[in-house]
Amino acid sequence: MNEKKLSALPKKNIRALSPYSARDIKCRIKLDGNESPYTVSGLNLKATLAVPLNRYPDPEAKMLRKTLANNAGISSDMIVCGNGSDELISCLVTVYGGPVLCPVPTFAMYSIISKSFGVKFVGVPLNKDFDLDEAKMLNAVKKINPKLIFLSNPNNPTGNCFSSETILKIIRASKGIVIVDEAYQPFASESGFMPMLNDLPNLVILRTLSKIGFAGLRTGFAAANPLIINELNKVRLPYNVNALSQSAAIEGLKNKKERKINIKKIVSERQRLYDGLCSINGIEAYPSEANFILFKTASADTIFNELLSKGILIKNISGAIKGCLRVTVGNEKENSIFLKTLENIVKKMRAFK
Ligand code: PMP
Repeated sequence: MNEKKLSALPKKNIRALSPYSARDIKCRIKLDGNESPYTVSGLNLKATLAVPLNRYPDPEAKMLRKTLANNAGISSDMIVCGNGSDELISCLVTVYGGPVLCPVPTFAMYSIISKSFGVKFVGVPLNKDFDLDEAKMLNAVKKINPKLIFLSNPNNPTGNCFSSETILKIIRASKGIVIVDEAYQPFASESGFMPMLNDLPNLVILRTLSKIGFAGLRTGFAAANPLIINELNKVRLPYNVNALSQSAAIEGLKNKKERKINIKKIVSERQRLYDGLCSINGIEAYPSEANFILFKTASADTIFNELLSKGILIKNISGAIKGCLRVTVGNEKENSIFLKTLENIVKKMRAFK
């Protein structure tokens, strides 16, 4: 078979997609993936590795779910674990189908996964403050009757939390499932929607360990009414969370004190990074409740490339929001180097104008 015929074989909706751009770009300072700059130092490797690798992992991840349930203050039957919360987004679309409704811009995987399933995806623009446009969202809920609504709260890439009242109105108005994706909740000032699960049967909360020091484990979870969890369990692949990830997550999550200290450091560095960005002439930074900051520049592509040429990788968001870049909060040294380098680049650009 020639390559032209080979390329024509995939389904039409898949051919129209591009792979998620998590390219492995070589850099000295990596501030593009919203990972934690800190790894959990107290991880007991001996305990983590003490799993029989000749056997399949626990298919139901019982111990891990128990740990997560205890931390969240809910019961284990309200939790399903995934190979990252990405996998659970995919499971939700498999179970419920579309239309899928999201405010935009938001986390790209909601639309990528919907489109890969050939499901209708509707994006409703955020308002000028990056909050939900309540009237437009409620109107879309009524008009298109979405099976799934994804609300990233705090929102990636804008960094803000949406109005809780509007989220509640959307959950109550929806005849489908509303997912509040709390990937960045540990960095937010408000405590999130977990306590409301018992009162709102169509609410699903997504959480991940990726942002709090365990991105390499690829472990996330959905919390919801057991009836929803039961449906998700029907479609997730068997043994989806591998034995080492289950074991390391259980071990790593024991270290609550260190995790809290690291989150506190990130939140305080976020403030320093925000203040530093605001002090650079020609940069507009947006307040953030997450572990990253969105900022606007006169020339996003130039600044992105200049930073990269100096070994600093951030995320270019200008395709979704004109002129915008997103920087993950790194450690103190990384943030200082980033700020100094950015300031020099902007100064140089102004001199050449
Ligand atoms: N939700 C949001 C809002 C995210 O930003 C991300 C990661 N970028 C995810 C989910 C996926 O996280 P995970 O690593 O658990 O797949």
